[in-house]
Amino acid sequence: MQIVLERIGAESISVERVLAIRGPGDIVGEMAIIDHAPRSASVRALEDCVILPITADQLERRMASANPIVRMVLNVILNRFRATLSSLDPDGGAPAASFFLQDQRLVDAAADELRLERDLDRALEREEIIPYYQPIVRLHDGALAGFEALARWNHPIRGFIPPSTFVPALEACGKSAELTLTCMRQIVRDLPLMLGNALSNAANVEGLKVNLNVSGHDLGDMRLIDRLTAIADQAGVPTHLVHLELTESSLVQNAHRTTGVLSAARERGFGVAIDDFGTGYSTMVSVQSTPATVLKIDRSFVQGVGDGGINLPLVENMLLLASSLGMQVVAEGIESAADANALIDLGCDFGQGYAFGRAQPIEQSVALVRRWERADIAAWKRRMGDTTVSVA
Ligand code: C2E
Ligand code: CA
Ligand code: CA
Repeated sequence: MQIVLERIGAESISVERVLAIRGPGDIVGEMAIIDHAPRSASVRALEDCVILPITADQLERRMASANPIVRMVLNVILNRFRATLSSLDPDGGAPAASFFLQDQRLVDAAADELRLERDLDRALEREEIIPYYQPIVRLHDGALAGFEALARWNHPIRGFIPPSTFVPALEACGKSAELTLTCMRQIVRDLPLMLGNALSNAANVEGLKVNLNVSGHDLGDMRLIDRLTAIADQAGVPTHLVHLELTESSLVQNAHRTTGVLSAARERGFGVAIDDFGTGYSTMVSVQSTPATVLKIDRSFVQGVGDGGINLPLVENMLLLASSLGMQVVAEGIESAADANALIDLGCDFGQGYAFGRAQPIEQSVALVRRWERADIAAWKRRMGDTTVSVA
């Protein structure tokens, strides 16, 4: 598709210049109306094509995944456009005088983002991003059942950077799969250490697995499952020891793409868990059609379940749903003895939260495997009323 700039000259002679040639899936905008010159752009189809109008939301999402420089340029152009409009219409929009200031802020923000992106490339390359492991406990008898791998970035200058900062940045620059792969490479190195120590504490540690978070951005990437399988095979680690966690909201948003990827994961032997369950507004039908094996109830439903408030019937219903679909349940974010005990009484399969231990590096996690005692679960029952308990 050709985008053509038409300029009407003083002598009413129409001049045309091809601005761009666009392919399938490209956005054809109205950028040519941003300056004062009386000109317009028109689109000429070189072959049969369908033009789909896009909403502001879709445009924003597309911008969010663009390269920071492209995003900055688009933002500057949009700002100038808004400023031009508001100078034509003094009653609407921001005053034109402020847009240079905004431009500078956008330039600074883009520079920050580029720096972060460059640092992230290095961090992925040098394994500065490492998995910390948070214990997952079988609730009815207190056995240690596994860990969730939670990424931590030890930046050489900026120190510890939480995943809430760098995971969205990786997603925005299209590198979230690299995070999954670097975590997987380290997990398959760490798992044999955990399993070796579990053998010497077999009475308290059973069926140890590690959960790996996968970004919703990678759900369209069919190669990811092949690459994860290759990493496991190369290390000689059976894939059934790794559970892939996908948030409920990412599954709902990408419903049409997920089933293929998740079915491939199940076929290769990986477990699949629906993370943050209860926050993504899925329906019974959509949960049923997901090839997931585990539901992880979001901590916003778990916390306070022991006080008998509204969360209690909600969690009861989630447990019923999971049981009717043959899925196991992990309750996330258990901090208090009261919540732990309520979940044990409700028959919830597994628990995770500060009550059982925070995410720790591999060395401490191996030590935890060695010294874990399932009898501690009976002690929590007796300690009802404590606000926080810890066995770690
Ligand atoms: P998540 O997958 O829901 O992980 C649970 C988060 O809750 C973790 O935060 C964990 O430290 C925290 N948490 C665990 N127990 C408790 C508790 O009892 N109380 C409270 N208040 N919080 C608890 P963290 O490590 O900061 O991770 C935040 C989010 O970042 C994760 O949420 C996950 O969405 C994302 N993330 C972490 N690592 C990775 C990764 O390797 N890949 C991807 N794609 N995302 C990751
Ligand atoms: Ca998770
Ligand atoms: Ca979660």
